[in-house]
This record gives sequence, structure tokens and C-alpha cells, in this order.
Amino acid sequence: MPNDLPEAVNTLVEELRRANHIGSALSLLGWDQETQMPAQGAAPRADMIGALTEVHHARATSESMGDKIAAAEDEVRGGDPRLVALVREAKRDWQRARKIPSDLAQEVAVTCSRSLMAWRSARAGNDFKTFEPQLKLVVALKRRVAEALREGDGSLYDTLLDEYEPGITGAQFQAFCDAVKPRLVQLVAEAAPRCQELRTDFVTAGYDSDRQLEFSREILESMGYDFTRGRLDLTVHPFCTGISSPNDVRITTRVDPKDFTHNLFSVIHEGGHALYEQGLDPEWSGTPLGAATSLGIHESQSRLYENVYGRSDAFWVHWLPRFRAAFPGRADDVTHEQFVAAVNCVRPSLIRTEADEVTYSLHVMLRFELEHALIEGNIEVEELPDRWNRLMRELLGVEPTSDAEGVLQDIHWSMGAYGYFPTYFLGNLYGAQIDRAARQAMPDLDEQLARGEMLPLREWLGEKVHMKGRQFSSLDLVEEVSGDPLDPLGFVEYLEEKVARLFPA
Ligand code: ZN
Repeated sequence: MPNDLPEAVNTLVEELRRANHIGSALSLLGWDQETQMPAQGAAPRADMIGALTEVHHARATSESMGDKIAAAEDEVRGGDPRLVALVREAKRDWQRARKIPSDLAQEVAVTCSRSLMAWRSARAGNDFKTFEPQLKLVVALKRRVAEALREGDGSLYDTLLDEYEPGITGAQFQAFCDAVKPRLVQLVAEAAPRCQELRTDFVTAGYDSDRQLEFSREILESMGYDFTRGRLDLTVHPFCTGISSPNDVRITTRVDPKDFTHNLFSVIHEGGHALYEQGLDPEWSGTPLGAATSLGIHESQSRLYENVYGRSDAFWVHWLPRFRAAFPGRADDVTHEQFVAAVNCVRPSLIRTEADEVTYSLHVMLRFELEHALIEGNIEVEELPDRWNRLMRELLGVEPTSDAEGVLQDIHWSMGAYGYFPTYFLGNLYGAQIDRAARQAMPDLDEQLARGEMLPLREWLGEKVHMKGRQFSSLDLVEEVSGDPLDPLGFVEYLEEKVARLFPA
């Protein structure tokens, strides 16, 4: 913690950290559950998590926390903007947490955990009908949560979105979609036919699993991921978790022995998240100034590394020769151009998590439209499969033949995460604008990447984004970094330029 903090702020920071330690223990239990825990550990684990969550909630919402916030607020008024931001964010968290009565929080936990199980079996059985009753309960409950949280008669959806992306409204997000959608649809129509001719056979030629892991660890290290403050483990669904950021930040991956792209790009993606968490200001750990701004900014970091840099020409100048050496006989006769084109191939598909960089945002827009209408009460749960399929046809020109590859594919709605999907698209928008600023500051960025030098990039992102914590909202941070308000079209222009270069007419 910085020396000579004013007294009340100092006391507040200590209180915030006491609550945060419990949060860290919960993260560790969650990480263990996904990576190490034996199957029979599931039931006692749920109890442990339940018990600790109670302790965490009690600390985070205590009267004593409220008193400390109030005292610190008086102390910092009109003073150091960082301290003002610290108190503002602490107050926001405290107020939000206190608005949910504990019996409602309990009901959400139980209903969502049941719904998650119902979703798993409905997806396995490819049957939306069996999931419908559970999903209705979740939607109704999340509407009650939003009613408890909202100010005045504000929009229910905005209230839920605010949890993940503070300061962005549904209407603002809609405006970003409206600006970008027609050009994206057009771009997909142009690029997809040209990509059908690409050589992609080597992508699924079979790749030794251990060597895949070694290769991706090498890339992680060159990105600047610090293994003395992190680890890489295997899971079904890759993720990054800041157990106690910036000193313990872990990532996971999954390895497909046929197709190298799953592990490789998951690791680079999660690595981007991890650099953010490892780059947070250690002096402020356990407080809002030592935490990520929003999920959208988080996603901007992972998508920059995965897509903008990790799939770039420059990046593979350095890494393709190493790739060939690591996997002899797999891509020996594949040219640099063929390799880069293949890992950027534009192909409208049914599954969001397998979508390419160009079609991905359209998958998100579809989900936003449906979840917004659900929460605002404009459509019913029963209508979801038909509406989903119709929108898929409209936006991507493909249509699911089953619920499993349609409306049942994502976990989010079953676990009550409404307002989460927009952060994926926002990450793309923020990332494109941050990349522009990075290239202005480092005009030789591509040359650096081509030499395998990624540390200056991490330094720059660290200074401009990671170290800021929650001092700024996402939109203010993007403006602070780039000098301009967010321009959603910057992302489309970046993609149009890339498509024209990689897949010329
Ligand atoms: Zn991500």
C-alpha cells in the first residue's frame, strides 16, 4: 500500500483487503474445482463455497465497511483523483451488494445451480423443451434481482449489464451494434466465398499434445506472462483466474490432439487476460484500484493478443519457423501466407466459441437482442429457439438443425449471466481502438512482433491500461488511452483492411 495515505482511506483499504482475502480463497476453491478436484469432492466443495460466500458477503456489506467508506469519502473530497476513484468504486460495490437481500441471493444461487444441471442434460439430450421450465425460473429471478438493484424506474436490462460493464447502457450497446452490423454482414458475404479455396488441411493434421503445451508455454513466456506468479493447467473450458492478483494469476487450456488451434489460441487469449491481472498495481492489490475496470476491457486485452497480434502476419514471421521445428512434417510445405490465411479463415458457423474474428461479433449481437427482449419482458422463453434460428439465418446465413447447436450451446443464460455477452463485442471495439493508439506510440510494433519481441507491448499496455485499475470507466479509459471517444467503426475498418489484405478479391 502506498505510504502516507490519509488516515480514513488507510483504514478503508485495510477493511477492503480483509473482505478481498475471502474472495481470493473462493477463487482458489473455484480453480481447484475445475482443475484438480476428484469427482466425489463436488458436494462438500459446494458447501465450502456456500459457507465462505456467506462470510464474504457479510464482510463486503457490513455497517463497519459503510462507516469506513463514509469517513474516507469526507477525507478525499476534492483531493487526489485516484483516491476519489477508490472510494467511489468501493461505495458502488458496497451499495450494490447491500441491495440484494440475503434470501434472494440464496434463491439465485440454488436456482441457477439447478438450472445449470438442467441445461447440461438438455444440451446432451438436445432438447430445449425439458430446459424451458428451469430457464423461466432463472429469467423471472434475474428480473427480481434487477428490480432490487435498479435506481428509480430505470431499465431492468441496463441494471444487469451494469454489473459486467459499468456505465454502458443497453441503448448505447444497441447503437454500437447498429453502426457495425451492416458492414460486418457485408464483409462476411465478401470474405467467406474467398476463404473456401484456402488450404486448411494441415490445421487438423494431428499434433502431439505435450509438444502443443510446450509450444504454447514458450509463446506465453515471450508475451511476458510470469510463471513465478502463475501456472498453466488443463480444463474442459479454458479460463483465467486472478486468485490474488497480481501475484497469483492462473490460466487453463484444453488440448485437441488433432487440431492445434484450440490450445494455441486459447492460451494466447487467456494469456492476454492474465497479463492484465499480473499487470495490476501491486500497491493497490485487494482494492478497486488494483482490479480490472470491466469485463469488456478484460476482453479487449485477451482479444488483442489472440486476434490482432496472435493471428497477424508479423507474429508468425517469428513463430512459424519455430512451429515447423516443433511439429516436423505437419506444416513443412505450408507457406507463411497460407498459414496466416488459414488461422484467419472466415467461415459462417453455428457455434460462437468456434467462430472466426469476423463472424464472432454477429453471434454476440444475436444473443444481446434475445436476452434484452427476455429481461425487458418483450418475448417469452418459449419463443427462443425459433427466434434464435431466424436470427442466425439473417445474420450469418446458416441455421441450426438442433437446439444443441442453437439456443442451448452457451452456459450463460442457464447460470443467470444476463448482460454478459455484450462484453465480448465491446472487447473487440475497445481492442481495435487501443491497438491504434499502441501503433501510434510504437510505429515499429510489427517489426517488434516479427522479431518475437512482445515485452514493449506489454509494458505499454501495462502503463496505459493495466495499472489504471478501476480509476476510469471503460469508455473513459479508452478515451484516456487513445485521445478520442470510442469509435465503433474503428473495429470494422481494422477487419475490412485485414480481409482485403489476406483474402484479396
Ligand atoms: Zn476472454
